[in-house]
Amino acid sequence: MTTSSNVAVTIDRLNKYYGTYHALRDVSLHVAKGEKVVLCGPSGSGKSTLIRCINRLEAHESGTINVLGTVLDDKTSHIDEIRREVGMVFQNFNLFPHMTILENCVLAPMLVRGASRREAEEQAMYFLHKVRIPEQAMKFPGELSGGQQQRVAIARALCMRPSIMLFDEPTSALDPEMVSEVLDVMVSLALEGMTMICVTHEMGFARQVADRVMFMDCGGIVETGTPKAFFGNPQHQRARDFLSQVRVH
Ligand code: ADP
Repeated sequence: MTTSSNVAVTIDRLNKYYGTYHALRDVSLHVAKGEKVVLCGPSGSGKSTLIRCINRLEAHESGTINVLGTVLDDKTSHIDEIRREVGMVFQNFNLFPHMTILENCVLAPMLVRGASRREAEEQAMYFLHKVRIPEQAMKFPGELSGGQQQRVAIARALCMRPSIMLFDEPTSALDPEMVSEVLDVMVSLALEGMTMICVTHEMGFARQVADRVMFMDCGGIVETGTPKAFFGNPQHQRARDFLSQVRVH
């Protein structure tokens, strides 16, 4: 049971179209503060679209999204408020290639939060330490490995002091040997109590940290359960088919 004070995200009967294509169908989702939710499902099922709607990278056509008490509508002030609270990490890192790692991390706190350069740099170094990469601060993204770049992307998001973190397949673009260094950072974040919604195929991560796993298919959430229930006894045939194709450990 959630009360308004412990709710992070509430989505009710969300529908999203790309042209005539119905990408999200009556999706409802409630995430409590501190909760970790893993969204999984076949490619094209709407996972990325769903989390992109939460910070208005995609606009929805009907239904409601409420983030920490703010309703996501067309008001710029509401969108800005929500974006300040919601950090996002993308599959392809999305770092600014012409800026050093440090500059990538100080930009938004200085521009959006009005932090002084000194404050922003101190904070950036704090989070670069946290993702175990402080020695790379003066390099450019192109000089780092994919795993390092993704850890920078996580640090950069954390520099905005978000209450909620969205991850959109953060390890999918990485060489296999770099996956665990990013997952380790995500696990630490989870253990510290961050509210997280993660689209990932890393089912070991889901088993380890998720409070709930949600399985999406054809634009809808078709099954929700604890990792134990979902992996041990999936109810839906499509979830069973999916699990038979991914590595769960
Ligand atoms: P998933 O993250 O589960 O792989 P997506 O949310 O990326 O799925 O995509 C859901 C569906 O919406 C797919 O059929 C995809 O082709 C379509 N889609 C995603 N983004 C766009 C877009 N910008 N324009 C048109 N169709 C899109």
